[in-house]
Amino acid sequence: MATPARSGPAGVGRNPEFPLQSAPGASQEEIRRQNLGAVLRYVHLHGPTSRAELTSRLGLNRSTIGALAAELTASGLVTEEVPTTARRAGRPSLVVSPRSDRVYANALSIDADRLRAARVGLGGRILDLREVVRPGGMSAIDAVGPLADLVRDMERAVAPDTLLVGGAVAVTDTTRDSDGRIRIASVDESLGAAMDAEFAPGPGFVTGDLADIAGLAEHIRGVAADVDDLIYLHGDVGISAGIIVAGRLVMGHQGHSGKVGHMVVNPNGLPCGCGSRGCWETEVGEAALLRHAGRDPGDRAAVTEVLAAAADGDPRAREAVEQVADWLGFGVGNLVNVVNPDAVVFGGSLRDVFIAGADVVRRRLDTMPLPVSREHLRLQPAALDENAVLIGAAELAFDKLLADPLNVGVAGQLGCAGSA
Ligand SMILES: [Zn+2]
Repeated sequence: MATPARSGPAGVGRNPEFPLQSAPGASQEEIRRQNLGAVLRYVHLHGPTSRAELTSRLGLNRSTIGALAAELTASGLVTEEVPTTARRAGRPSLVVSPRSDRVYANALSIDADRLRAARVGLGGRILDLREVVRPGGMSAIDAVGPLADLVRDMERAVAPDTLLVGGAVAVTDTTRDSDGRIRIASVDESLGAAMDAEFAPGPGFVTGDLADIAGLAEHIRGVAADVDDLIYLHGDVGISAGIIVAGRLVMGHQGHSGKVGHMVVNPNGLPCGCGSRGCWETEVGEAALLRHAGRDPGDRAAVTEVLAAAADGDPRAREAVEQVADWLGFGVGNLVNVVNPDAVVFGGSLRDVFIAGADVVRRRLDTMPLPVSREHLRLQPAALDENAVLIGAAELAFDKLLADPLNVGVAGQLGCAGSA
């Protein structure tokens, strides 16, 4: 991964309701900018919000909120409107809404088998979405050209007075060779720079691991928005994790933590694409499910069929789901002893495996981890759909704007909109 940019964005969106606090010695100007960011972040996460609610949620006084909202409106980042249904007598509180149609980020995803590009508006709304197949053997760096084509294609449909605030690329660590063999992607430090070069002098791209970014999305807008310690497990052709501790992504050296698919759980097991043997993903990955069900392990489309057959009571499919679910619980049991999260969230193809085999997974979790690790633990399917990673990538790209709206917003007014 090139420049994992998550030291800043990790935890964006958590507890925006708390009363604002400024560092001792912060100037009036710094405080004003922080407060502008807080108001913009609130409506970005919660959608249209009245000035009155912003006042109570952010712990600022009414006139301050009024001035901040007016300033954000003047910079084109939000709109303020009289609510259509004013419930009380007297002058209604204006409703502040993010300008999703005008302010957006380019969110890209290099998945195992496809390349996706979306324009995501402020507020987290997907405005446009394109995808193409990622051919077997295509490296992440070779994906830059096709992704740039998708972005340019989208940009052609963009109105002239829009503001592009930045871009982010999520990259899976597991790819498929042209012969169908699963392979662990080598680190490609130049991906971010290559994207930046394609779109110079645009606002630039940050890059990150796909599971980290999808986990961040669940933490900001999904099923784990209320907790600060979680493990997000992502299944595609491999298994990877986004681990968030105390509201921040665990990064590791150069951002390569979370490779939980390569925990060895079965030393006598099958060889893994990483060169080791008996890795967790050889027991819980899509290929394992297909193998147990007697299907071609390379036929990803058959995963849905096996899960559907299991739901219909097909004994072999059910047995395959139970075997995989048992290994899934086994690995999660170990992980929760290490991380002690409040929630484990299952995403990608693991979402469906978890739903199909939840009782088996829970049986493991009821006994394996220490009581202090399991008593409070929630196991949950991801709430966001397959676009979670695009939503999460957009959050990375929006982070700079939300930290200092005036800076980015005003730059956009001066003509930095558009990238291609
Ligand atoms: Zn492995």
